[in-house]
This record gives sequence, structure tokens and C-alpha cells, in this order.
Amino acid sequence: MTKITQYLKESEGKTLFSIEIIPPMKGQHLGELMSHIEPLMEFNPPFIEVTYHREEYIEKSVDGLIKRIPIRKRPGTLGICAAIMQKFQVEAVPHVICGGFTTEETEDFLIDLHYLGIENALILRGDQEKGEDRFVPKPGGHAYANELVQQVANMNKGILLHEETESFPTNFCIGVAAYPEKHFEAVSMEEDLRYLKQKVDAGADYIVTQMFFDNKKYFDFVKACREIGINVPIIPGIKPLATAKQLEILPSIFHLEIPEDLSNAVRACDNNAAIKQVGIEWAVEQGKELIKAGVPALHFYTMSKSDSVRAIASQLF
Ligand SMILES: Cc1cc2nc3c(=O)[nH]c(=O)nc-3n(C[C@H](O)[C@H](O)[C@H](O)COP(=O)(O)OP(=O)(O)OC[C@H]3O[C@@H](n4cnc5c(N)ncnc54)[C@H](O)[C@@H]3O)c2cc1C
Repeated sequence: MTKITQYLKESEGKTLFSIEIIPPMKGQHLGELMSHIEPLMEFNPPFIEVTYHREEYIEKSVDGLIKRIPIRKRPGTLGICAAIMQKFQVEAVPHVICGGFTTEETEDFLIDLHYLGIENALILRGDQEKGEDRFVPKPGGHAYANELVQQVANMNKGILLHEETESFPTNFCIGVAAYPEKHFEAVSMEEDLRYLKQKVDAGADYIVTQMFFDNKKYFDFVKACREIGINVPIIPGIKPLATAKQLEILPSIFHLEIPEDLSNAVRACDNNAAIKQVGIEWAVEQGKELIKAGVPALHFYTMSKSDSVRAIASQLF
């Protein structure tokens, strides 16, 4: 198995292509997801990231009593990673989240990854539970991603949570998330960057950014990171816009800005095909500038759909 950082090192300055996919809704067939990944394989992604989705609670009447029942709408991250590695012979990078897990449950999950030969993981806190206004860790779970990074780094040294003697060390390459437009909970960019540095100091090997639509935000962010001593690779995240609704949804969910030129171009379209084309052209221009600047990889948020990303990648790679 190859570490993401090794791929980045061996690329000798050439920008790599990578994608993030999301597991299908529970009850759906994996075949459709695979058929969206397949057309992107010609661009040689060395790794594919697979998101992790925490449980949601629904209320259901059981024997006359209202019960809160946990439902995971998109399970299967681990299985999908194994299937991707087997089918496409590329690294699958599972996202590992703090939310909804005790540290012991997380340790067991990481051991499963290790047994499957999965040596790359993107370590995240996760968002708050649906309906909650702030993130609350499960009792006995991690409150912030840096704590989970530390747990993985300890396992890489053979240190488990409760075992008295040192165990067989894992060999995880650790990725973490970052936000060129600041994480919405942080009071300032400076504070957010301090916490990002904490994750890197705890053992993170590389960073993947939240999507952004204005490259200047990424360039300023990378400069600010370097100034405070964050020296690991910072992979930019790109999402092609595909619908007019996303002009409202993306800023409200991901706390980012959409440049006026882009929103005006989308609003001038009179059908979805035209909007998709605007999204593709914008992402191609972003990609060209980022590649020219020598970014380590372009990481595409595909939402498990391949058509726009394929059109973009065929112009860039
Ligand atoms: C590339 C990428 C992939 C993602 N994939 C998923 C996914 O698969 N599943 C999912 O549920 N979510 C995913 N998310 C969303 C992510 O989980 C949320 O944005 C979450 O709110 C923050 O996660 P984090 O790991 O950045 O948290 P953290 O690094 O823990 O930061 C969270 C907030 O707390 C602050 N903070 C950090 N450390 C401390 C500390 N020690 N003390 C006090 N404050 C602190 C930070 O400044 C920030 O405001 C992804 C995000 C990105 C960018």
C-alpha cells in the first residue's frame, strides 16, 4: 500500500487528480457508484476518498411509545473502500470522524482499516448531529479532530488506548481538513489556523481543503499556513457548480462565498445544462491556475457523479 504523501513526493511537481465520493443511500446498489467512478479512472487518480456519515435520529412509535432510533442513511464507508481497492487497484481513503464514536470504538475501526491494508485516512471531527446547534461528542469520544489525530499517531507508535504493553504499530498516513474561508465556528482565521497547526503537530501528514470558488482564497490561505510553520502539502478541493440552487445551498452549508461573476453567469442561464457548462468552465479556469501554481493535486468533490468532473479533467489532465 502506498501513502498519499509518497504519491505526492513521487509526482515530482506534477499535479495529481483525485476525487471524493459519498456512499449510496442505504438500500441502494453499489453498482451505480462504481459506474460513476469508472469513467474517471482514465485520469489515474492515485487515491479516492470515501466520506463517512454519522447517524441521524428519527422518532418512531414502538408498542405505543415514542422511541428515538439511530439511522445511518449512508453506511458502508469501509466496505466501499475495500471494493474500490479491489476493483480499481488504487488507494481508498476512508474518512474517520469523531462524532458518534467512543475512542475505543474508533480504535477498533482503525484496526479494521489496518487489517484490510488501508493505510491512508482523512481524520475529521464531523459536523453536529442533525437538529443540534453545536457538535457534542459521544461520552468517551473525541471533541476535536486533533485528539483523533493524536490517537492515530499513537497507534502508529504501537500505543493503544488501554493495553499495558506496546502493540504492533500501524502505519497510517494522516490527512486532515482545512478551510480557506475559515471554519464557521472559529472566531478568527488566526484561531482556526492555530488549531490546524495543532493537528499537523499531532501527526497530520497532509491537508485537504474545503471547496472554494476563488483561487485567491486558497493562495492566501496557503501563505498564512506557511507563515505559521504548517509545511505539509495542502490539496485544494474543487466542486463544479451544477444547479442554480447551489448558489444558496453551498454558502449556507459550507460557509463559503461564491464570486459575483460566477453567480451572475449561473443566473443568466435558462436551463440546467447551461448551468452545468458554466460550472465546468469555471472549474477548468480554477484548475488551470492552480496547476500553474504547482498545487500537489486537484481534489474533486464529485457527489458520486462523474459527468462534470470528467469534462473538467479531460481539459486539465
Ligand atoms: C475535506 C473535507 C472532508 C470532509 N468529510 C467529511 C465526512 O466524511 N464526514 C463528515 O461528517 N464531515 C466531513 N467534513 C466536514 C467536517 O467534519 C466539518 O467541517 C466539521 O465541522 C469540522 O471538522 P474538522 O475535522 O475540520 O474539525 P476540527 O479540526 O476539530 O475543528 C472544528 C472547529 O473547532 C476548532 N478547534 C479545533 N481544535 C480545537 C481545540 N482543540 N479546541 C478548541 N477549538 C478547536 C476549529 O477552529 C474549528 O472551528 C469534511 C470537511 C472537509 C473540509
